[in-house]
This record gives sequence, structure tokens and C-alpha cells, in this order.
Amino acid sequence: SAQQTPGDQLPRYVRVNTLKTSVEDAVDYLKRDGFSYLGQALKLDNLTLKNKDFVMDLHLPELLVFSPKTEFHDHFLYKAGHIILQDKASCLPAYLLDPPPGSHVIDACAAPGNKTSHLAAIMKNRGRLFAFDLDGKRLATMSTLLLRAGVTCHQLANQDFLKVDTNGPQYKDVEYILLDPSCSGSGMVCLRDDSAAHPEEEKARLASLASFQLKCLNHSLRFPRLKRLVYSTCSIHSQENEEVIAACLQQNPNFRN
Ligand code: SAM
Repeated sequence: SAQQTPGDQLPRYVRVNTLKTSVEDAVDYLKRDGFSYLGQALKLDNLTLKNKDFVMDLHLPELLVFSPKTEFHDHFLYKAGHIILQDKASCLPAYLLDPPPGSHVIDACAAPGNKTSHLAAIMKNRGRLFAFDLDGKRLATMSTLLLRAGVTCHQLANQDFLKVDTNGPQYKDVEYILLDPSCSGSGMVCLRDDSAAHPEEEKARLASLASFQLKCLNHSLRFPRLKRLVYSTCSIHSQENEEVIAACLQQNPNFRN
């Protein structure tokens, strides 16, 4: 029999892509499609949903919340790029970076691009969004996703972010950076954690990830006009989170925080 995992009980989050539609129109469409809208959630309990009920998130108005495992992969709104299947945690980085329309932004480790498309929506497709990824295959997937989402302000580069010239003339107005580097993924409830099986290997892997993350963060701070940066991972290890930030601030005492 199928085993229950914590992920099975988590609500299904859906981000409305405001480049293609409005929250109001998406809600109307879903109501006509048999879902029942209960309004904005006021407390966490309101996120425990049954059947076809859905609510608006407590914090992010573009985020709709459905009962666990509600399936949208074949849904019109998904296929047309009007909704993006994106967990709340993954919506927070772009929401917090909040680059204004017209600004110049870097998404340093961007593929498959859900955060990139969220950034473009916040920027209303105005300004410049430089997105890098080392992995060509993931970048190809990303290209399709951005096309479906109607993103036009981006420039994709199959490039090692650590080798991007921070003094390049095209980056002289970059004020916002989103840094979401490769991590252990230990915070993803859908992944089974079997790290306890090989403690030594796991230790070495974490150390190497943390060193890469710190290099990316230090590199980001070298962009001359950087004003705001959001660093995110899907890890629950402080070694990949707080400790990376602390080491970076120690190595860059002149960066205002
Ligand atoms: N931000 C993405 C999103 O929300 O869809 C997820 C990014 S994923 C956590 C990390 C990405 O970093 C991977 O796609 C990986 O290929 C890429 N990556 C790893 N090393 C890199 C490097 N040196 N330069 C640029 N990208 C890199």
C-alpha cells in the first residue's frame, strides 16, 4: 500500500501569473470550473482544505491554496501559463526581493525558473532580468516555462555564475540579486532523508555545498550597484543558511546590512 509522507498533507499552492491574468479572473475561472472559493485565509487553520475548496493565502495575495494533491497538470489555467505550481516557500524570495518595474536584476542560479518568472511578474516585464544557469538541459526547460508564462524581460545565459564579470558594462545598473544556489534539499518534505545512512559522505557533501554557496554570495556582493540581495535554499541545515551569511558578512565588512 502507498505510504503516507508529510508532503501528502501539505496544501497545494498555486501562484497566479499576473503577467497573463489577474487573481480575480483566475478565481472566477476556477469557480466556474467547480471549485469553491472561501476568500482570504485569516489563520493557518483555514489552510486545511477539503475537496474542491480553495482560499487566498494569508500573506501573498497572488497565491491560492487548495486541498493536498489537487491536480492541475492537465488544467487549462496551467497549460496556458495563467497559474504556476509553486509552493509558498518558493514564492517568498522574489516577493521579498521585490524589484520595481524597470530595475535591473540578476537571478544567479535560475533554472528551472519559477522564481525567475515570479520576478518578471513583480517587475511587470519591465527592466532587465539576467538569468544564469550552468546546466544547459535545465535551461532549455526553463526557456519553455518562461515562454508559457509570457516573460519577455529576461536574458538567459548558460554560464557559470562565478565566472560572470561583475564589472561588465551590461551589469552596471544591477541593484537586485536573487541567489538560490544548489543545496542539499534537506528541507524538501517530498524527498526522503537518508542522510543518516552515510554520515561521513553527508558531512563532506554539506561542506562542499556550503563552500560553493559562500563563493556565490561573495561574488554577488561584487556587483558595483547592488542594493538588495535575497539568499535562499531548500535546506534546513544552518551550515547552508545562517553560517553562509555569517561567513559572508565577516568577509565583506563594508557591505551595509
Ligand atoms: N531558482 C530556481 C527556481 O526557483 O526554479 C532553482 C535553482 S536550483 C536550487 C540551483 C541551480 O543552480 C541548478 O539549476 C543548477 O544547475 C544551478 N547551478 C549550479 N552551479 C551553478 C553555477 N556555478 N552557476 C550557475 N548556476 C549554477
